[in-house]
Amino acid sequence: MTTAAPDHPRIPGARYTERLERLATLVGERGLAAALIGVGPDLDYLTGYRAMPLERLTMLAVVAGEAPVLVVPRLEEPAARAGLRTDVEIATWMETDDPHGLVAGLVERARGRASATIAVSDRLWSVHLLRLQGATPGARWVSATEALRELRMVKDADEIELLRLAGAAADRVVDQIASGRLIGRTEEDVAREVRTRLLAEGHELAEFAIVASGPNSASPHHEASDRVIQAGEPIVLDIGGALGGYGSDTTRTLWVTGGDDANGPTEEFRHLFAVLLAAQVAATAAVRPGIAAEAVDRTARDIIDGEGYGENFFHRTGHGIGLEGHEEPYLVAGNGESLAEGMAFSVEPGIYLPGRYGARIEDIVVCGPDGPVILNNEPRELRVVAG
Ligand code: ZN
Ligand code: ZN
Ligand code: ZN
Repeated sequence: MTTAAPDHPRIPGARYTERLERLATLVGERGLAAALIGVGPDLDYLTGYRAMPLERLTMLAVVAGEAPVLVVPRLEEPAARAGLRTDVEIATWMETDDPHGLVAGLVERARGRASATIAVSDRLWSVHLLRLQGATPGARWVSATEALRELRMVKDADEIELLRLAGAAADRVVDQIASGRLIGRTEEDVAREVRTRLLAEGHELAEFAIVASGPNSASPHHEASDRVIQAGEPIVLDIGGALGGYGSDTTRTLWVTGGDDANGPTEEFRHLFAVLLAAQVAATAAVRPGIAAEAVDRTARDIIDGEGYGENFFHRTGHGIGLEGHEEPYLVAGNGESLAEGMAFSVEPGIYLPGRYGARIEDIVVCGPDGPVILNNEPRELRVVAG
C-alpha cells in the first residue's frame, strides 16, 4: 500500500532544530535543571514526533548544558525515528527497566550547574509526573509552558499557512452544510456529515461538530443530539479539527425557513444577531500588535452590554489556536498580555437566551503587523436558508 503525500506544506526540519535550540537557551537563561516534555503538542512542536500518550514513558529531556535526549520504549524506537523531524539522540528502555529513573539520571547530570528546578510539560500524565517526582527528591517542579508559551504563541509563516488552509477547508464545509438539506434531519446526522466533509476537505482529524438547533442554540457547547431540525429556527454550527496538525474552528449561525418566508427570523432574533455581528466585527477590527488581549474581549462585551445582552454573553471572546484547539493567548478579562504579530486566536462572541435560542459568530484571526488577518471568510451575516 502506498500513502499519498499530504497536499499541504510541512514545517521544515530546520525549524524544529531552531525550536529545540531556543528551548535549550531558555532552560539555561531561567536556571532550570531541565525541561521534561512528555507526549503531546509540546513534543510535536519541538520535534515533529506525534505519539500516543501511553503508560509507557516517552519523554524529551532537555537538560541544562547537555544535548537533548528522547527517551522511548524499545518497541517505539522505529516509530520515534520515523516521526522525528530533527536530529535528536534517542535512549531506549526495555520492558523491565525503570524509565523514570533513567530520566532522573539524565537530570542528575545538570546538578551542580543548575538549580533543582525542573520544568515539565502540561500534558504529561500524573502517573509519570508522580514517578519522576519520586525519582528526583528535593526538586522543584514548574510548568514548561512558562518557557514554551513564548515560542508557541507566536506562529511562523508555515504555521499560519497551515491555519489558513485549515480555516479555508472548514469554510467550505460550512458552505456545503448551509446549502444542503437540514429540516427533518437530526442534529447528530448533520454532525456526522460535518465530520465526513471535514475529512474530505483535507483535515486528518474532525474533532468537533456542534449542531445546535432551535432552543439548543442557547447552549454554547451543545452536544449534537437526536433532536429533529424544524423550519423556523436557528442552527448554530461550530465545527473544527486539524489539518497538517493545525486547528480549524469556525462558527456560523443559520436560520432555516423550509422555503416559506413566514418561517423567517423573528424581529428579536434579527436584532440580537445584528448586535452580535457588530460586536464580532468590532472585536476583530481591534486586533493589532500591542493591544491587550482583554481589550479585544472588552470591545465585544461593551457593544453587547450596551444593548442589554451582557448577561447573555457568558464566555470569553476567544482562545489561541495552533497545535491545540485551545491554547494561549486567551481573550478574556484579566489577561493584560499584549497581542503580538503572529499570534492566532478565535474571536467568537455569542448571545444566548436560555430556553429560547442563541447565536455565535467565530473566526480564527491572526494578529498581523498592522491589524487583523482573518482566516475564516464565509459571510458572517445571518444566513437564512431553505434548509
Ligand atoms: Zn467553545
Ligand atoms: Zn468553535
Ligand atoms: Zn473556538
